[in-house]
Amino acid sequence: MIKKHVYVLGAGASAASARLPLGRELVWNYHVDCPSMVQINNGIPDLSKQNEKFVNFREFLEMTASMFHELNYLPQKWDDRGSTMFFLSNIGKKHYIDEMLWILYQRDDHDGIELVRKLIFEHLAETSLLAANIHRLYMDTLYGKFTKKIMMQRQEEEASIISFNFDVLLHEDIDLESCFDYRMKFDWIDPNRDKIYARSNPIKLIKLNGSLDWGICPSCDKIHLYHTHLFGSFYNNKECTSRCNSSIQPFIVIPHERYKEIIDPLWILAEEELKSAYKVTVIGYSFPEYDKKVIDLFASALTSDVLLEVVTHCEGYEHKDRTRATTNLKYKRLFPALENKINICLNGFQGYLNNEFG
Ligand SMILES: [Zn+2]
Repeated sequence: MIKKHVYVLGAGASAASARLPLGRELVWNYHVDCPSMVQINNGIPDLSKQNEKFVNFREFLEMTASMFHELNYLPQKWDDRGSTMFFLSNIGKKHYIDEMLWILYQRDDHDGIELVRKLIFEHLAETSLLAANIHRLYMDTLYGKFTKKIMMQRQEEEASIISFNFDVLLHEDIDLESCFDYRMKFDWIDPNRDKIYARSNPIKLIKLNGSLDWGICPSCDKIHLYHTHLFGSFYNNKECTSRCNSSIQPFIVIPHERYKEIIDPLWILAEEELKSAYKVTVIGYSFPEYDKKVIDLFASALTSDVLLEVVTHCEGYEHKDRTRATTNLKYKRLFPALENKINICLNGFQGYLNNEFG
C-alpha cells in the first residue's frame, strides 16, 4: 500500500514562493507591494490613475481612521503621498485585519467586512500577477519545485495538499504535466481552464478557506471555477452563468466568517486525509488562535504515531534554538497526543525543498 503524505500550506509558503503578503501585511502593504507608475506633468505628479486603482484602499484608510484614533492621520497622509510609496510604520497587532475583522463582526458592520474582503482579494490577486510576471516560468517558483518534488515521489508516497491560502499560485502547469483537483463540485468551469483542470491522476488540493478562482452566486448558490490569471478588478464583474442576473462573489472565507455548508465536504475530506497520513508536513502555517476550527480538525484527525514536520522561517542563527523550542512547545500544547518527536525545519520553504533541515 502506498503511504499517504499530507502537506499543509499557509501564507508563509506563498510569501516565500512569490512574496505574497503575510497576514500582518495583508491589505496594509497593498500600495507598497503593487505600486503603479505615476506620471509627472510639469513637476506635478498625476495620481488620477493610481487613485482610481486604489479607490477601495482609500476607503479602507478612512474606515481605519474612524476605528482607531491613533490612525486618524492616514487619509490625509494618503492624499499627500505624491509620487512616494505609502509606507506605514505604526501598524500594530491590533490593526492587523484579522483583529479588525473581529471588531467589524461584533459591530455587524457588513459594509466594512465587505470592503476588507474586497481588498484582500485585490491585494492577493495583484501581487500574484506581479509574481507571475517576475518568474514567468512556473517551474522556477518554489511552488513549481514543490510540485515537481511531490510528483517525483509518487512511486513511494501519495501526496495530498491542504491549503489555507486564497491565492492560486499553486496550480496546474503544462510544462510540469501537473494537475490538481480541488475536489469541489463546480457547476461551471471556465472553458479555457476546463481543458486542463483536474486531468489525469491529479493531486488533491483541498482549500479549506476557499480560493480566489472560485465564485459563488448569492442567489442560486451555483459554484464557478475561473482561470488562474486574476486581476484585482475581477472581484466585481462576474455574472452568474445561470442568467439569474446576480453578480458572483469570490468564494473566500475570511477570518471570523462563518463557513458555508457547501464547503463541509472539503473539511470531511481533509479529516480523512489527515487520519490516514503517515506523515504531515506543515509549511508556513502557524495555527493562529482564531483558526479554532482548524486546530480542532487537526487535534481530532492526527493519529498519535504520525510523523509531523514543521517548516518555518527563522531569522538569524542565534534565534534558532529558541525558535525550535517554542515551536516544539506550541505543537505539544496544541496536539498533546502526538508521540513522535516533531521534525522542525527552520530554513523555510526553500530550505525544506533543498532538504536542509536543522
Ligand atoms: Zn445564480
